[in-house]
Amino acid sequence: MSRPLQIFGSICLQLLAFAGLALFVVGVVRLSGEDGMRSPIALFAWGETAEEEPAEVVTAEDGEPAGRPEGMVVREDDPRPLVILDPGHGGSDPGTHRGPVFERALNFDTARRVARMLEEGGARVLFTREEDEGPTVGERAAFANRYPWALFVSIHHNGFTTEVPRGVETYFSDPKASATVAAQRKRFGLSSRERFVDQRSEALAASVQESVCAATGAVDRGLKNGSRVARLGLVRLVSCPAVLVECGFISNPAERLKLQDPNYREKVSRGIADGVLGYLNSVESDPLFGVTLPDRATSSELADIRRAEAGQ
Ligand SMILES: [Zn+2]
Repeated sequence: MSRPLQIFGSICLQLLAFAGLALFVVGVVRLSGEDGMRSPIALFAWGETAEEEPAEVVTAEDGEPAGRPEGMVVREDDPRPLVILDPGHGGSDPGTHRGPVFERALNFDTARRVARMLEEGGARVLFTREEDEGPTVGERAAFANRYPWALFVSIHHNGFTTEVPRGVETYFSDPKASATVAAQRKRFGLSSRERFVDQRSEALAASVQESVCAATGAVDRGLKNGSRVARLGLVRLVSCPAVLVECGFISNPAERLKLQDPNYREKVSRGIADGVLGYLNSVESDPLFGVTLPDRATSSELADIRRAEAGQ
């Protein structure tokens, strides 16, 4: 090999070694940032989130009713912002559980606390289920879609096959199911050709996630786009800003112990309620907060829509 070729080869080898080292460092930082104790197998499944166990699985197809805006929409004069709380599972579906700790009950207890705080903050609250009921995903979505001006918050607790994962994560869906988007477009009076960007659910999810982590000091597992997660079909089917918050892992012994403490659940609930109220503040100053209508931006129609939304 000639001298220039040798130098070139040596430089290439050094670059390769440096790139490999950089990748390794990035990997270690990411691992220690989440669960410092991930197993080696988890290295190869990076990007997989620790989701609830298979018992959680509920599927909802695109074609499932996203509510029929015409005829089924409830018209009300109540000026208070409306929040629909959805305590996950219920009835014969316990959700995830360990020993005496059942997700179904934790979800309902937390939802009840959040409801009290939201009402104290000036909001009106409806529940998708009573304490002993377990409506289907389609029934929950259809109920929520009767109130297209509301906010929707589904409350869950997480479980996993190992004891390692812990922390809080909040799901939203972008895009939503096609029937849901069609209902939204109808609500905003948009033709199928007009552009419509809806980031309300993501904004609500960010507000809730940040607030719950601040209130509890729990590990922040971040926002997750649940549009491709079958068991999260619910948030895809709800036309108003909709999120699903996983308040902690029942499968993690330390977090399970915390979640069994009513004082800790009060903190979790405070976080959810403050996150929702913070979002409502943003909406109060801009009724179309999170919505972009590029084809209406310079039109007086946009002002009309804003006025109509504000009047709800
Ligand atoms: Zn659940």
